[in-house]
Amino acid sequence: MTRRFALMIDPVAADVQRDDYTDTFTQVDAAAPALSVGELSTQRGDGVFESIGVVDGHAQEVVPHLERLAHSARLCDLPVPNLEQWRQAVQQAAAQLDAGESVIKLILSRGVEHGPTPTAWVTAAPAADFSAVRRDGVRVVTLDRGYDLGAAERAPWLLLGAKTLSYAVNMAALREARRRGADDAIFLSSDGFVLEAPTASLILRFGDRFTTPAPNGGILHGTTQLSVYDHLLARGFEVGYDRIPASDLGRADAAWLVSSVRLAAAITAVDGEPLPVDAELTAELNAYLLSPRD
Ligand code: PLP
Repeated sequence: MTRRFALMIDPVAADVQRDDYTDTFTQVDAAAPALSVGELSTQRGDGVFESIGVVDGHAQEVVPHLERLAHSARLCDLPVPNLEQWRQAVQQAAAQLDAGESVIKLILSRGVEHGPTPTAWVTAAPAADFSAVRRDGVRVVTLDRGYDLGAAERAPWLLLGAKTLSYAVNMAALREARRRGADDAIFLSSDGFVLEAPTASLILRFGDRFTTPAPNGGILHGTTQLSVYDHLLARGFEVGYDRIPASDLGRADAAWLVSSVRLAAAITAVDGEPLPVDAELTAELNAYLLSPRD
């Protein structure tokens, strides 16, 4: 058993359909350099990725993550990943991990410049300890994302609905949030609607109805949000996808940022104004998200 693990994947070998793809994987030393210096596309962020939560060796929601990886690849004109090959790589990585929480990352980049094939790899590593943020929540600030709700349709080359390797803007937003004395950010469209957080989806509660910004191409469709909605529906709540004006944020009865590894973090304040916290439901959501989910 190990805490860190890395596999290079040969995406070309997956063109032939078969049952067992393990001979298309090469295990590499997770602590040693493995990428060619020619891996320029990675430096340009020209690729797509996924982060999958792993709890006690069980990789969570693998198929939704693989489907989003394929969706991102299509948007970026990358070869569409063979889902069964990647599923087997995830299983192989998960089987190596110790108990506790880990994260498996899947990366598909355009590969060495002028090279014939993309570069693909899977890594596994221990997850950070998010127990405090799951318990205490996050203060958020709203930040202008700089495009309106129509941008994704008008300008598909902005790749707004793809989970690309270009997260520099998302990381800059988190630094700006910290400069403003908060823990996290919520992006707003330039026409005043709520989008998502830099690394999480947003769910708001109004009475017994829960809502999240409609994934209309401008934001990622979160696997955790989908899973939380399944749980809320089973509990008899109403759920929906809406255009949410920024002014609705402060009116919510509770709100959460949800994502695959941090899980559910209650929002305790928006732009310095306190928001009600539903500690009981937050704990319930995190217990559910930590249970094995397929
Ligand atoms: N939105 C963005 C921009 C993200 O980066 C993420 C996760 O990293 C999410 C939403 C939430 O997605 P998921 O729940 O699948 O982790």
